[in-house]
Amino acid sequence: MRSFLLSFFALFTFLNSVAQEQIVYIHAGHLLDTEKGEWLEEVTISVQNGLIVDVEKGYIKAPRFAEVYDLKDQWVMPGFTDMHVHMETEYNPHAYVQKYVDDPADVAYDSVKYAEITLLSGFTTVRDLGGSGINISLRDAINKGKIPGPRIFTAGKSIATTGGHADPTNGSNQKLMGDPGPREGVANSPDEARAAVRHRYKNGADCIKITATGGVLSVAKNGSNPQFTIEEIQAITETAADYGFHVAAHAHGDEGMRRAVLGGVKTIEHGTYMSEETMDLMKENNCYLVPTITASKEVAEKAEVDGFYPELVVPKAKAVGPQIQGTFARAYKRGVPIVFGTDAGVFAHGKNAKEFGYMTEAGMPAMEALQSATIIPALILQLEDKIGQVKKGFYADIIAVSQNPEKNIATLEAVEFVMKDGKVYKK
Ligand SMILES: [Zn+2]
Repeated sequence: MRSFLLSFFALFTFLNSVAQEQIVYIHAGHLLDTEKGEWLEEVTISVQNGLIVDVEKGYIKAPRFAEVYDLKDQWVMPGFTDMHVHMETEYNPHAYVQKYVDDPADVAYDSVKYAEITLLSGFTTVRDLGGSGINISLRDAINKGKIPGPRIFTAGKSIATTGGHADPTNGSNQKLMGDPGPREGVANSPDEARAAVRHRYKNGADCIKITATGGVLSVAKNGSNPQFTIEEIQAITETAADYGFHVAAHAHGDEGMRRAVLGGVKTIEHGTYMSEETMDLMKENNCYLVPTITASKEVAEKAEVDGFYPELVVPKAKAVGPQIQGTFARAYKRGVPIVFGTDAGVFAHGKNAKEFGYMTEAGMPAMEALQSATIIPALILQLEDKIGQVKKGFYADIIAVSQNPEKNIATLEAVEFVMKDGKVYKK
């Protein structure tokens, strides 16, 4: 009887261990506390079932069955979040033609590649601010574990006005232009604006992106004019709130930006020609600037390459590109809330961490730049108890670099260890 009970107990223990994933121990030499903005020395992080089980002082001896990662020489941080990417595309001189040549399946295969590159560069969460809608299927495939990639919050398709920056038929010949409507992300009244938001909900988006002003890379003359009325923007933000969505607004010109902030958007993307009045308005409304300096540097550089952009785009790229880092510097100094975002896709995916260098170059301390990519996006995505910190109960999104980022910010461009949801993708 006794041996029967013993073997029963052994079987029970065995089955129990099968149900629980293997426990992982990480010995971290330096661990970033994003809440306090300081480094903890010599800690042990234990991980199981995709979550952080504990963070303890000292190098705790791992149980015999645990998997152990020795990061005693590393600078360990929560995975980063990029609040402005486009997972479906990567800009190249053929991009305007590709739109008519590529099938959705081609775009999907490309996006799989971009998702993996993004994850391996230390970005465990991203907000995708606009594509054809394939970004929604991409999110689902990643969440189901079919392919490696960051956790995606997607706007699905951006919302624009006719001929506006995200009108999907901009630059087409007259025959192909047609007259896209709310379903395709084009709205021209408060009613249509509400319908456009509801279409995004129906399609499975997580948030809303609008193009409040003209943009650089669309085949249209004006890169900064306002493109929505304030009533249309209000209709969008109010409807979005019904569905638990926040709204991100692309904006270069000041008037469109002002309307977007007054209209209730949560983030302003780029912010190129932002006036001091609009900066103060952002502070009052707790609206965040997403700097995208990396993209601006890229378009300024590529505008000098003959034939890289269509003729209509070149002067816009030359004008907007060099402005953005300066605007960021002024906005930061004035106390505008900042959240990390790059516009990856306008430049090569996986280079997102270059933004940290540009932010610190413009006067933001490295620690604040790190917080802007961890604890702050968590607030906007309403995941403040799940991402952005290495803390008990949070998702096990953990990355590491070989040097102190406060001494050498470029070390963030060479992430050596990546874990997402407890699974190690790079070591
Ligand atoms: Zn963008």
